[in-house]
Amino acid sequence: MEQELKALRETALQALSEVAGKEALNELKVKYLGKKGLLTGVLRGLGALSPEERPRAGQIVNEVRNEIEQIIAAKLEVLKQAEVARKLASETIDVTLPGRPAALGHLHPLTLTLNRIKDTFMRLGFEVAEGPEVETDYHSFEALNLPKDHPARDMQDTFYITNEILLRPHTSPVQIRTMQSSVPNQPIRIIAPGKVYRRDYDATHSPMFQQVEGLVVDQDISFADLKGTLELFSREIFGNSVSVRFRPSFFPFTEPSAEVDISCVMCAGKGCRVCSGTGWLEILGSGMVHPRVLEMSSFDPAKVSGFAFGMGVERIAMLTYGIDDLRLFFDNDIRFLRQF
Ligand SMILES: [Zn+2]
Repeated sequence: MEQELKALRETALQALSEVAGKEALNELKVKYLGKKGLLTGVLRGLGALSPEERPRAGQIVNEVRNEIEQIIAAKLEVLKQAEVARKLASETIDVTLPGRPAALGHLHPLTLTLNRIKDTFMRLGFEVAEGPEVETDYHSFEALNLPKDHPARDMQDTFYITNEILLRPHTSPVQIRTMQSSVPNQPIRIIAPGKVYRRDYDATHSPMFQQVEGLVVDQDISFADLKGTLELFSREIFGNSVSVRFRPSFFPFTEPSAEVDISCVMCAGKGCRVCSGTGWLEILGSGMVHPRVLEMSSFDPAKVSGFAFGMGVERIAMLTYGIDDLRLFFDNDIRFLRQF
């Protein structure tokens, strides 16, 4: 019995000294200490010994068992520490490495353009006014001297929700709303930037685009004020070298009316594809506020006069940056947007 245990102990210690992994260690534990393990087998055999031999043999079995248990526990600890050390070595963080920069966005070219337009007019003392994008027919047309069935309505064909409610085709309703909420005949000097909607879609038209509307009302406002303001604006945006011209035009809400052209920024007025060989580019529409429009909003055309203008932000941006397809602004192609 003693010889048998001694041999068992030797082979167990030998196997344990060579074990290299947690799994193998566990297998040895089962092999020697498990319910059907070798030591348990020896323990069962004690019954066959004489009562005198039994205590001594039992003591030896327990000693061997304790010894193996302790070695296994110690070995397990060593294996665990080795694993931690290996993890630490492989997952080292170099805190001195520079961080990965997050990609920062920037303002959209249309926002940049709108900001420049706003800055220019705010320096001239204009305030920014806003109005709803879903408008009434009255504010969009009738109060602007465009009664129902007026043929000029076709120029601003928009999206109707009902016969009386529509998506505004221009920012001009903000003029009406501003006059109606002001004390009659008191000075007004506003610009109204915002989204507008029309039934158009091609390289230079989008069903949704942005306009900036302007309105000045005061005593003795003349066409000279309109010219001076819009010439200054054109030079601020396109540079001092551009020429500005005023060309007679028609709008139902202004009289007289004028389109404002600048000398072509691509060919400096010589004539090219962008300006269709004319040397001029149209940038906005303008005119003296029609007396009927003033009257309908309770202003007295005998006491005050005013001028108004409107421009497309996309068009100004296209001319500023030399872009020939307006749809690029709305495609959200990063390769395009990164250039601004
Ligand atoms: Zn040109």
